[in-house]
Amino acid sequence: MAPTYDVIVLGLGGMGSAAAHHLAARGARVLGLEKFGPVHHRGSSHGGSRITRQSYFEDPAYVPLLLRAYELYGKLERDTGRPIATLCGGVMVGRPDSRTVRGSLASARQWDLPHEMLDAPEIRRRFPTLAPAADEVALYEARAGFLRPENTVAAHLQLAVRDGADLHFEEPATRWEELPGGAGVRVHTHENAYTAGQLVICPGAWAPDLLTDLGVPVSIERHLMYWFAPEGGTAPYTADRHPIYIWEDPRGVQIYGFPAIDGPGGGAKVAFFRNGTACTPDTIDRTVHDHEVRAMADQVAPRLPTLPGRFLKAATCMYSNTPDEHFVITRHPAHPDTTTVACGFSGHGFKFVPVVGEILADLALTGTTAHPIDLFDPRRRAASPA
Ligand SMILES: Cc1cc2nc3c(=O)[nH]c(=O)nc-3n(C[C@H](O)[C@H](O)[C@H](O)COP(=O)(O)OP(=O)(O)OC[C@H]3O[C@@H](n4cnc5c(N)ncnc54)[C@H](O)[C@@H]3O)c2cc1C
Repeated sequence: MAPTYDVIVLGLGGMGSAAAHHLAARGARVLGLEKFGPVHHRGSSHGGSRITRQSYFEDPAYVPLLLRAYELYGKLERDTGRPIATLCGGVMVGRPDSRTVRGSLASARQWDLPHEMLDAPEIRRRFPTLAPAADEVALYEARAGFLRPENTVAAHLQLAVRDGADLHFEEPATRWEELPGGAGVRVHTHENAYTAGQLVICPGAWAPDLLTDLGVPVSIERHLMYWFAPEGGTAPYTADRHPIYIWEDPRGVQIYGFPAIDGPGGGAKVAFFRNGTACTPDTIDRTVHDHEVRAMADQVAPRLPTLPGRFLKAATCMYSNTPDEHFVITRHPAHPDTTTVACGFSGHGFKFVPVVGEILADLALTGTTAHPIDLFDPRRRAASPA
């Protein structure tokens, strides 16, 4: 019997919602299965804002994907009318030899991206809220800014439904298997079993449950996002005058933050980048502890002296980390004819969401993609000990 769907997308968070959109837009019969409701706050794609930038310190190999993601984010806004991207500019701050500054500059030079290098007095002159040390510099990128994650997911879901996708919420997939004779896959839920020619798995922090035989370990970390009401009000922090920032201290600890984007009472968001604690989606501690708020305020105070004025709130979120912090986007090594996987986004995946959706649609429908994704092959670990 012919399968009911061309493609089942498992997980409709950031990556899965984008995949469902791109697949449906190409005429595929799509079923999306999501454990929770639409645009929920229990995975990795919530919290009101995500940084986007192009001078990518993690690796210059990401830059072509970012250029395409910027195009697709623009199209997503135009197609849905939802506000998603604000390019308020961004500074990557640290000592000149820090990973943040050195790596951003390497990407900018390799890809000829517009940027400026600012010394400490110039940083303070342009952005009076920032107080760099005398030996710190910044790469300024006018095309950096922030994305609205909830609007992004909602927009992709909206377009997927417009193009005929069946999206089932509150219906977790419990298991899946390949059908004999190359007939596709079957995905089970508590209610039903569905068949399709192809399966796309975008499980976020549930990757360790669903993708045990991938060949790359994915470890889950609890992270916090903090909102503070700046001393003296949010006026100096509004997006027309304040950049996003990633700031690396001499020990290599990075914080990142945003302008005040939620009105005078909404404060400004700041967080540590990559210093989470191990967790699972079932056991994550959602309580925010006083010592955590103090540690955040202490790290911010010397750098943005007016920011940790008054603590407003904090929220938890999960990173899904690979050992080298590069993504996994691939045909499933054990099921290469039927199954495509996207996971291990290691705390920096959101800015890529629409281009990942495009890549997943390519892989599911044609088995290959023209996008450069060698860095995301799970077999890279043999070559890269990082
Ligand atoms: C605090 C924090 C800050 C971040 N900041 C940035 C940033 O500034 N810039 C940036 O680019 N990136 C950032 N990231 C990373 C980015 O947000 C993530 O890489 C991205 O959201 C991951 O998307 P995802 O689709 O993999 O996961 P999710 O969006 O969590 O989606 C996974 C989905 O799969 C569903 N699911 C799981 N199991 C099942 C099942 N069995 N059946 C059905 N559905 C299932 C889940 O319910 C979930 O909806 C940040 C992440 C965090 C946590």
